[in-house]
Amino acid sequence: MIKIQNFIDGKLVAPASGTYFENIEPATGKPYSHVPESDRTDLDLAVAAAKRALPAWRALSAVERGAKLIKLSELIHARFEEFARAESIDTGKPITLARATDITRAVGNLKGFGEAGSHWPSTQTFDKGTFVSHTERSPIGIVGIISPWNLPLLLFTWKTAPALVTGTCVIAKPSEVTPMTAFLLSQLISEAGFPAGVFNILHGHGGGIGAAMTDHPDITAISFTGGTATGLQIYQGAAKHLKKVSLELGGKNPTIIFADADFDKAVEGAAAAAFTNQGQVCLCGSRILIEASIYEKFKTALVEKTRAITIGDPLDETTAHGATVSKAHMEKVLGYIDLAKQEGGNILVGGKRRMIDGRCMDGYFIEPTLIEGLPASCRTNLEEIFGPVATLIPFTTEEEALAIANGTQYGLAASVWTLDSAKAARVASRIESGIVWQNCWNIRDIDTPFGGMKKSGIGREGKQRAMEFFTDEKTITIWKNA
Ligand code: NDP
Repeated sequence: MIKIQNFIDGKLVAPASGTYFENIEPATGKPYSHVPESDRTDLDLAVAAAKRALPAWRALSAVERGAKLIKLSELIHARFEEFARAESIDTGKPITLARATDITRAVGNLKGFGEAGSHWPSTQTFDKGTFVSHTERSPIGIVGIISPWNLPLLLFTWKTAPALVTGTCVIAKPSEVTPMTAFLLSQLISEAGFPAGVFNILHGHGGGIGAAMTDHPDITAISFTGGTATGLQIYQGAAKHLKKVSLELGGKNPTIIFADADFDKAVEGAAAAAFTNQGQVCLCGSRILIEASIYEKFKTALVEKTRAITIGDPLDETTAHGATVSKAHMEKVLGYIDLAKQEGGNILVGGKRRMIDGRCMDGYFIEPTLIEGLPASCRTNLEEIFGPVATLIPFTTEEEALAIANGTQYGLAASVWTLDSAKAARVASRIESGIVWQNCWNIRDIDTPFGGMKKSGIGREGKQRAMEFFTDEKTITIWKNA
């Protein structure tokens, strides 16, 4: 059994309480590591270390700080396969996906934000003749970062890298169910050249150490990615201290297929949007809206594609669909499939737990599932399921498609499939979501703003926006003829 440790003040350490809990491998249902149950004592040690480190860290140039992020990305890249395997085991996702997306993007985040150091700090000048004003940005202090389990290292680095390059000191908590790659990363932080106390990692339950971070008076901002209900708790907790918050929350994203789409590409895109990472991506398209004139043809093709998805051991190179992340999450998703049946839904394919022989016989596998026959306003079509479950909804007009697409409390992402570029642009501009893809899905450019409208979040991430979040802006006005 691997014993995970916290990383505080440049050292791997046991939790102050000495308490650990089990980490389960979702593909087998068996424990394989122990996770520290951190508490306020550990947090106080991390905050004290961060306070000591902050003056020297913020005094470095952004280029010097960025160089350490680039070094960290190189160290991870050198152990690429070890990280990919660890991510696959910890989450249940196919190893091929862990390689192609999680670890590749994690390395890219550290390098990308590291390089962004050379374009930072951003300043502006306003010359008004008799006076001139300059703006400058400075790091906001010690920040708390809380990340989820679906893309563990990808989102952990996506959030910590901009914080570090702008000169804040970080206390970060990965999800309790997927702590492993953050632990591996913590073993490389000192080697990458980060001074002690700059980058601290605490493990434990969200309601314990996560809530304590939100409540700590010396942590000046919280950057959170996770569910909307948790986001609301963090928002309320942070408000007590007037903390800055960045909230990246849930989604119930529409995939809108018009009759004039490239049919094969749209089928492929809709399947990828519904089932990538077992449907556990905040950007997944879980409501597939199909123009009525092609509904039956599209349904048949999509069902066939879904049935062909290879479900199996995540460590098998041929597996396309692995396990859901935990027993509790599997039961939640299966509960939603039951709810869909109660609401009158017809299961077209999937709809149940998949039992797998051998090593994975107790794993948490759910078949990719398509459901039709549900009204757009039922719970199955309004609530985030966050599993391999998508519904098919026919529509007849552009207006109707937009009304359904915008008819939930969420507003994170959407994809629109049509070869009519004027229609695509019209629909994109009226969809209430932070991201719209036209004839593609999940193209993520680190330079572009990322985040949700409505209950999908507050604020934007991405290169410039994230670096702005972790800094405060000051205006200095100079009277020229003084
Ligand atoms: P949760 O909201 O359950 O947890 C996210 C993180 O918050 C975890 O580290 C969790 O710790 C921690 N946490 C839980 N409760 C608290 C609390 N009271 N105070 C502080 N921290 C807390 O989300 P999941 O991990 O289940 O992730 C899935 C959700 O994340 C989905 O809703 C998905 O849509 C969303 N998401 C959003 C993205 C976006 O960019 N908009 C991207 C990816 C996912 P622990 O796990 O230890 O309980």
